[in-house]
Amino acid sequence: METNIWEKYAGSARQQVEDFCAKYIDFLSTHKTEREVARYAISQAESKGYKNLAQLMNAGGSVRAGDKVYAVNMDKMVVLCVIGRQPIEAGINIVGAHIDSPRIDIKATPLYESQGFCMMDTHYYGGIKKYQWTAQPLAMHGVIVLKDGSRQDFVFGEDDGACVGFTDLLPHLEKDDKKDIKGEDLNLIAGNIGDKEAKKDKFKAVVLEILKQRGITEDDFFSAEIEVVPAGRARDFGLDRSMIMGYGQDDRVCAYTALQAQLEVNNPEYTTICLLVDKEEIGSVGATGMRSKYFENCLAEIMSVAGQYSELGLRRALNRSKMLSSDVTAAMDPNYPSVFNAPTDAHFAKGISFNKFTGSYGKYGSNDANPEFIAQIRNLMDENEISFQATEMGRVDQGGGGTIAYIMAIYGMDVIDAGVPVLNMHAPWEVVSKVDVFEAYRCYKAFFEAKWKK
Ligand code: MN
Ligand code: MN
Repeated sequence: METNIWEKYAGSARQQVEDFCAKYIDFLSTHKTEREVARYAISQAESKGYKNLAQLMNAGGSVRAGDKVYAVNMDKMVVLCVIGRQPIEAGINIVGAHIDSPRIDIKATPLYESQGFCMMDTHYYGGIKKYQWTAQPLAMHGVIVLKDGSRQDFVFGEDDGACVGFTDLLPHLEKDDKKDIKGEDLNLIAGNIGDKEAKKDKFKAVVLEILKQRGITEDDFFSAEIEVVPAGRARDFGLDRSMIMGYGQDDRVCAYTALQAQLEVNNPEYTTICLLVDKEEIGSVGATGMRSKYFENCLAEIMSVAGQYSELGLRRALNRSKMLSSDVTAAMDPNYPSVFNAPTDAHFAKGISFNKFTGSYGKYGSNDANPEFIAQIRNLMDENEISFQATEMGRVDQGGGGTIAYIMAIYGMDVIDAGVPVLNMHAPWEVVSKVDVFEAYRCYKAFFEAKWKK
């Protein structure tokens, strides 16, 4: 284990880290929802020669070793695949990350008036500390689907010199009762101009008129997905600029690095798949979450266009696959050391972090990776000179967490959690170390290209 891997990237070697992270910062600044990330992944894949699996199937096409395909599920989950030289049933090298992040969603019937304001009601998504989201500039990102099926992107508060937000009370008025922000208190301020012509709801009327200019009515919020997220760009963090602060790095830091690694895969020994899934933050549920059958069905389709499908072949492929569940972990925080156990927790600038298990209390709910697989991983990391740390998430019995690892382990495949340590996790602005980002990318690339001794 290394001490601080900036030593490895000192001098001229720092430039490759900076170049990689500059692109990552751009990506993070402009892709803040699962749909935006899915769209980005698809456009990057198409530019590298990936073919749309659904179109290929409809055209009766086929794939062979070295070919690249992608599949997209409801615009929120993406599977990117390069067919290997080995048969698919020999197993796949999979790196899977999630592309949803904690945020605050606009309700289906959001608009109301209070005290001369037009307000929008919200319902938070994932584990947030509500007070962190008040009194700061927020943006709205999402889609609205009209009854005729047409879909409109809706973004407000990024490059338009505007924002929205939730209020918090001034300290002077909290003398008697320190306000604890509740979920139902998160009501977005949407406007304050009244329409004097309007017979009722004059403050709503002005906002509705603005929405009408975009072709949106009040009822359309029912068939919309609009997410309230921090407004503005990600940026360098620290006087030495060694870190990155940005929204949604859980888990887009792993999604981005896994995607970049996959996009560089050509003619792999084993078939490689980069999996970008939705709904991890609320338990991997729903049609676009890891617990849906989408991935399994998609793999059956890929084997079919490769001329390799059989029911048994599919089961073998899943069983013999190896996976990095690429999700972030909690980094040792110098301000709150008491919840950590320093020797066994993740630290900034020590490389990719492997969690043998996550879960909570007595490892409940955890995928506990096999030592036989971990030994192969250690060998792969050492052969490729990748810095890594073997970690847990915080003190025993302090808490815990989960990822998609246990869901893929259901197939009997080898899975281990491998991700980037994060400070401020689930806060509006999360922080990572640039060298850990770069090392994660190098780790995922080596994993995709691994030629396992089976
Ligand atoms: Mn995560
Ligand atoms: Mn999370």
